[in-house]
Amino acid sequence: METPASHATSFCIEHADLVVTMDAQRREIHDGAVVTQGPAIIWVGATSELPAALRDAADEVIPARGRIVLPGFVNTHHHFYQTLTRVIPSAQDAVLFDWLKTLYPIWAELTPDDVFISTQLALTELLLSGCTTSSDHHYLWPNGCRLDDQFAAAETVGVRFHGARGSMSLGESKGGLPPDRVTEDEEAILRDCRRIVEAYHDPNRFAMRRVVLAPCSPFSVTPDLMRESATLARSFGAAMNVHLHTHLAETKDEEEFCLARFGHRPGDYAEQLGWTGDDVWHAHCVHLNSREIERFAHTRTGVAHCPTSNMRLASGIAPVRAMRNAGVPVGLGVDGSASNDSSHMLNEVRQCLLLQRVLGDPRAMTAREALEIATLGGAAVLGRDDIGALAPGMAADIVAFRLNTLWHAGGAVHDPVAALVFCQPQPVDWAIVNGRKLVADGAPLHLDLPTLVERHNRAARALVERAGR
Ligand code: ZN
Repeated sequence: METPASHATSFCIEHADLVVTMDAQRREIHDGAVVTQGPAIIWVGATSELPAALRDAADEVIPARGRIVLPGFVNTHHHFYQTLTRVIPSAQDAVLFDWLKTLYPIWAELTPDDVFISTQLALTELLLSGCTTSSDHHYLWPNGCRLDDQFAAAETVGVRFHGARGSMSLGESKGGLPPDRVTEDEEAILRDCRRIVEAYHDPNRFAMRRVVLAPCSPFSVTPDLMRESATLARSFGAAMNVHLHTHLAETKDEEEFCLARFGHRPGDYAEQLGWTGDDVWHAHCVHLNSREIERFAHTRTGVAHCPTSNMRLASGIAPVRAMRNAGVPVGLGVDGSASNDSSHMLNEVRQCLLLQRVLGDPRAMTAREALEIATLGGAAVLGRDDIGALAPGMAADIVAFRLNTLWHAGGAVHDPVAALVFCQPQPVDWAIVNGRKLVADGAPLHLDLPTLVERHNRAARALVERAGR
């Protein structure tokens, strides 16, 4: 397999119907152009104002009529391995705790090959849906699985990857939710966290690899491990920008667990453990109260909003409107593929738009705000100033969707931005990540999709068979 890194080049994208910049002025440029050089964008503007010298110097000119061009989406919460266990019948209609207890024994059979193939598949699915940077929260390490397997797989796809080294240490015998056999020793967890940061974390702009420390959730790790993980991440220093991530306030069951076991609501528990700050983001936060939202805003603590998963598991509606009004940094996440059961980022943008309206206010979320959450919002949550917008000096992470399609007919002519979000989500036409073209005509350039799907399906069947299901 050819690695995407071998395609360094420069592009001149011109005559896009619309370029949605997400820059400081939120410019939307009709008949727009974008020029890239290596990993960076060097020019953005109207095609009529494009300097001829820039166009002439480009290795490839990409005509973009009929397309809307945007910064690539940033996915802030996922569990790639769960692509192997989508729609398992016994977990289709369960709430979070029952859903987890059904799936833990299957996930206990994961192998390094499973981790590799599911990472490839999920990242390809994300890429084709407009995502150019993704985090993944992996917290089960049976049978010799390591985060190294994910970094190796991510390199074959070419998407920017923030690997979150997850962990579980509070097994059933200690009052936690997961079976003991999928938990790890806390010293070993911290040792591996340090190893993986030293081996893979790149704090520089345009980094393709970052490491995140990510104990799984209040009901699967001890307070000690939460504290120690935060101490370790921060011990590398602010310049290293090692972030912290976990699940928080996802369900009422979790709130009750935290009150009973720790004597605190989830938001207060996180704060008490040092898990607030601009180097922390929490997945879900469906059940934060107004005081906790204020604290998150004050401390710049981030949130990964996962609307489809919250609906799928009947967890509730995250108060994203209130969070955004208060100033909480919010990104978007598709969440694990066993609770979505998709990694389609544009579809998640649409779900974000729709779910905030369910309570009765159609102005609670607009198409443009949902896109902002999926781009600038995700970049802020991951601690990046180099992605999420199309502007000179930003990373050349650019996606284009066709709008002259059946699905957008009669919509894109009125408002192409709204049509992209309101109408039936489609895959990208092309995608560029870090200045490399990874998708053209809707197909990945560096991976054979039918082979990938076949291998992944084989692995999914074998995994469930090994678990005796
Ligand atoms: Zn999750």
